[in-house]
Amino acid sequence: MAKLGNPQETIAVLQKYGFHFQKKFGQNFLIDPRVLEKIIRAAGVTKEDFVLEIGPGIGTMTQYLAEAAREVTAVEIDRNLIPILEDTLREYDNVNVICDDILKVDIAALAREKNGGRPIKVVANLPYYITTPIIMGLFERQVPLDNVTVMVQKEVADRMQAGPGTKDYGALSLTVQYYAEAYVAAYVPPNCFIPRPGVGSAVIRLTRHKEPVVSCRDTGLMFRLIRASFNQRRKTLANSLCNAPELSFSKEEIQKAIEALGLSPSVRGEALALEQFAALADILAS
Ligand code: SAM
Repeated sequence: MAKLGNPQETIAVLQKYGFHFQKKFGQNFLIDPRVLEKIIRAAGVTKEDFVLEIGPGIGTMTQYLAEAAREVTAVEIDRNLIPILEDTLREYDNVNVICDDILKVDIAALAREKNGGRPIKVVANLPYYITTPIIMGLFERQVPLDNVTVMVQKEVADRMQAGPGTKDYGALSLTVQYYAEAYVAAYVPPNCFIPRPGVGSAVIRLTRHKEPVVSCRDTGLMFRLIRASFNQRRKTLANSLCNAPELSFSKEEIQKAIEALGLSPSVRGEALALEQFAALADILAS
């Protein structure tokens, strides 16, 4: 089997199997070797690593991963792709394909079984509508993770790595940055895929923090504050928090807490850094 990752080989495989793209699975296959190499480099995959690939498609990135990693497990939801993957990956004895919905896979158990519970690397080029739940699920479910290197919609990558005071900064930036350091490794135009997606894409690497970057007694409350602050972006922080149905603090309690942080009463949520949200949660919790 020739190496995939260019238009000719990809089209040949698709024709050989009479494959029809399924929109509901967000199938856009990579056809640019430079992008594939960038993803492997960004993830820092070495022969020591066990890698979980989510959504291998016809196995293009899987081939690159198999060459770079010790072992790869690829989870693909579309059963029509399984015979294709058996063909395109038959020369690699370090790849295992599972046909399932990644949202139903016990990834922590997989990490225990395949990597003795040590941190794993996750690489994925996913349908954009499930990328955020998958990434958040990985971090929130305490899967042992080294990094997650994933192709996302360009705007999502920009939001994930944005800092306070910028237009892209919001609840997604803070949630991702609580768990990981975000680094955009490449911007990828639509012509690097078959079929071409309607939006630009980016490869983002999220390296899990080894130690929490902020300490907070009640992280649940901190995340509720963060969500409430950005639900009504144009309002002041005090008003957003007062109006939030998921919070039950009085206006006075909120104003006092904001004052105790040394912030202006008219400050907006978008001006606060993660440490300030953590401190606000600590003050309100006490
Ligand atoms: N990795 C391949 C590539 O780069 O060419 C394919 C990428 S394509 C954007 C997304 C892949 O994820 C498809 O193969 C699709 O069938 C698969 N997929 C979609 N939803 C999934 C899910 N919930 N669990 C596992 N795989 C899924």
